[in-house]
Amino acid sequence: MENSVDVKAEETQKEGVVSRNFIQNIIDQDIEEGVYQKIVTRFPPEPNGYLHIGHAKSILLNSGLAEQYHGDFHLRFDDTNPTKEKTEFVDSILEDVKWICGDLDMEKVFYASDYFDQMYECAVKLIKKGRAFVCDLSAEQMREYRGTLTEPGKNSPYRDRSVEENLDLFERMRAGEFADGSRVLRAKIDMSSPNINMRDPILYRVARMEHHNTGNKWCIYPMYDFAHPIEDAIEGVTHSICTLEFEDHRPLYDWVVRELEFETPPKQIEFAKLYLTNVVTGKRYIKKLVEDGIVDGWDDPRLVSIAALRRRGFTPESIRMFMELSGVSKAQSSSDYAMLEYCIREDLKMKRPRMMAVLDPIKLVITNYPENEIEYLDVSNNQENEAMGVRKVPFGKVLYIEREDFMIEPPKKYFRLFPGNEVRLMNAYFVTCTDYLTDEDGNVTEVHCTYDPETKSGSGFAGRKVKGTIHWVCAETAVKAEARLYENIVDEEKGVYNEDGSINVNPNSLTVMENCYIEPALAEAESMDSFQFVRHGYFAADSKDSQKDHLVFNRIVSMKSSYRPK
Ligand code: ATP
Ligand code: MG
Repeated sequence: MENSVDVKAEETQKEGVVSRNFIQNIIDQDIEEGVYQKIVTRFPPEPNGYLHIGHAKSILLNSGLAEQYHGDFHLRFDDTNPTKEKTEFVDSILEDVKWICGDLDMEKVFYASDYFDQMYECAVKLIKKGRAFVCDLSAEQMREYRGTLTEPGKNSPYRDRSVEENLDLFERMRAGEFADGSRVLRAKIDMSSPNINMRDPILYRVARMEHHNTGNKWCIYPMYDFAHPIEDAIEGVTHSICTLEFEDHRPLYDWVVRELEFETPPKQIEFAKLYLTNVVTGKRYIKKLVEDGIVDGWDDPRLVSIAALRRRGFTPESIRMFMELSGVSKAQSSSDYAMLEYCIREDLKMKRPRMMAVLDPIKLVITNYPENEIEYLDVSNNQENEAMGVRKVPFGKVLYIEREDFMIEPPKKYFRLFPGNEVRLMNAYFVTCTDYLTDEDGNVTEVHCTYDPETKSGSGFAGRKVKGTIHWVCAETAVKAEARLYENIVDEEKGVYNEDGSINVNPNSLTVMENCYIEPALAEAESMDSFQFVRHGYFAADSKDSQKDHLVFNRIVSMKSSYRPK
């Protein structure tokens, strides 16, 4: 093919190393053989819940292929089953796909229910070809006739109805003459097929249910295995990419598009689902956590729904990097959550400012520092990215430091503050601990120090070295804030489920630090702004609860990493 060069995939990796997944190989070959002129992929969610990180894989895979091959990517709501669908889910899916992809062409958003008329016509066509029949067997009888994995099934006694009778009955099914479940339309394929999906599968059922899009227009609804290939074919989808559990359905997919004689039939390709270690993705389970009030909605930052990852402060770039690292394959495996954390650190480390925030404060008083004086120190916004400049950070006689940065009787190798010890206050001066105060219970309430004015950070002081550096905020100018620290919602040690089938929720999955003190520069943080808080990790202002007079920060990820890139 001469013109095949135009649509060939752009190299996905820039440094000369080209790694191609098996799907790209299939598409390359299809283009070479002239099977398709333009590549069209789709992401077909059922609007019955929020999307999760697994869906992000499918979205990025499909939209990525469309982009590489200069084709089209469709978002198609697979809304042919009226029972569980809600417009709330449609709206959330639109928002999530837009966020993950960075953009969404609304002209390429489709609804499977818009094709109900065409699906009906397709069913009529099969009847006319003698490839479908109306069956009156009850559900239970149908199970008996179906056979098992080791035994063939038996033909339905209604299988040989005439085309005229089938057309008449199917028309009357549509007209609402028959009770729910009393009659179905079935494909006429092969009751002795070793693949049970091919044993005269049901194409249409009678069900009086209101549909969110078509209302009460229909009382018959198509089955997924019949509807899906038709939806793909109508839209000109070329590669219908789905997960492995549909592999056994592929012969039926191919049968439908062949019997309906679509000119350029789409092709189904299966890949392995994304699983994350110790993370709950099943809609059913997330729904239960939401309904039982264990989490704060579908976007609770402990979940891995796309809305939750966004609220927690993950970026689309970090999710894309994660998908690239986890690859596309046919072999089932699970990816490490730590790899996702690695990706968000990598993404934020050069982009976001490094600020000082004290999460569990105690007061530090510098006894020899002038009263009522505030000085402004120059602090680099991001030491790894000088282009981000410097800011002025106020410093004064009274500071807050982390409670854990002072000990009365330290263990060996403790280099932070203890009586008699000298440390560096980050970006400021050396201080030596001279005294401390406690309350009646012996809890430390205040640490007293003296500072050495010669040791100002950036002054070139080279007199002596100290082993410990601690961070701080100036008490007079500090802003109060709440920080929320997270762990996985399920306990890695104890397993995902309890004996009674309920989810074994990690009691430490949320820790609220209500009395944090942060630099005044953070007072202007808008919803979703993210920062590195020195030593604590990356945080983002919560999109639901953070307000100007009550700032709330979610910890996206700590600084510690257990993941090493290969
Ligand atoms: P349900 O149990 O409701 O069917 P689902 O997760 O399969 O849940 P769909 O809305 O049917 O939800 O999924 C839309 C698309 O996302 C499908 O093409 C499906 O194959 C893909 N998908 C779902 N889960 C994953 C996953 N973990 N990894 C990759 N792709 C996934
Ligand atoms: Mg599904």
